[in-house]
Amino acid sequence: MVPWSEIDFALLDMDGTLLDRYFDDYFWEEHVPKVYATQNKISYAKARKKLLAMYKAEEKTLNWTDLHYWSNRLNLDIIAIKVELKDRVRIHPGVEPFLHFLRDSNKEVILVTNAHPRSVQIKLEQTLLLPYFHTILCSSDIGLPKEEIGFWREAEQVLGFDKERSLFIDDNEDVLLAAHTFGIKHLLHKSGASSKFLHEKSDIFPPLAHFSDLIP
Ligand SMILES: [Mg+2]
Repeated sequence: MVPWSEIDFALLDMDGTLLDRYFDDYFWEEHVPKVYATQNKISYAKARKKLLAMYKAEEKTLNWTDLHYWSNRLNLDIIAIKVELKDRVRIHPGVEPFLHFLRDSNKEVILVTNAHPRSVQIKLEQTLLLPYFHTILCSSDIGLPKEEIGFWREAEQVLGFDKERSLFIDDNEDVLLAAHTFGIKHLLHKSGASSKFLHEKSDIFPPLAHFSDLIP
């Protein structure tokens, strides 16, 4: 499926790709509205409607993944709430053997994420995935989300990967389109981003259902 002899760099997204996106969907769409409703003495339905509209307005921006932004906006300690729920973070099946394989094949393994650095730290410590990565790049380090081609131009400068010899896996088609336009040669769309909710399928990029499919 993947011509490994042509690949030196594995660029991997975190939420929805390596980790089950159910955690994030549950966290933002159910748990945070619940806490917000209690704090503001309004109904859960009302809180949820208000928060979903607020999220929608910040989609595809850096604010969307900025935990400090939402803490200020909602007057809640989002990092503390996330830490409370951290044992619910789940790794997608087959991820650890895949990361082992990359390490054993001397590929450079880079986490490329729109997630906030504190979120990355909480999740990678909880899942014990941290040691597998040579480098972690958060879009807040660049100042642009991965949906922007400018992100990829900067990322290439910072990380020094060869786009012709790179594989990038993400569960977000808009992000893959930006990476494609920038020129990353090998792209895969992680399907089944959440174990419980249905998410977009890609009509453009080859789907990756299970990480074991990538191990020769
Ligand atoms: Mg993702």
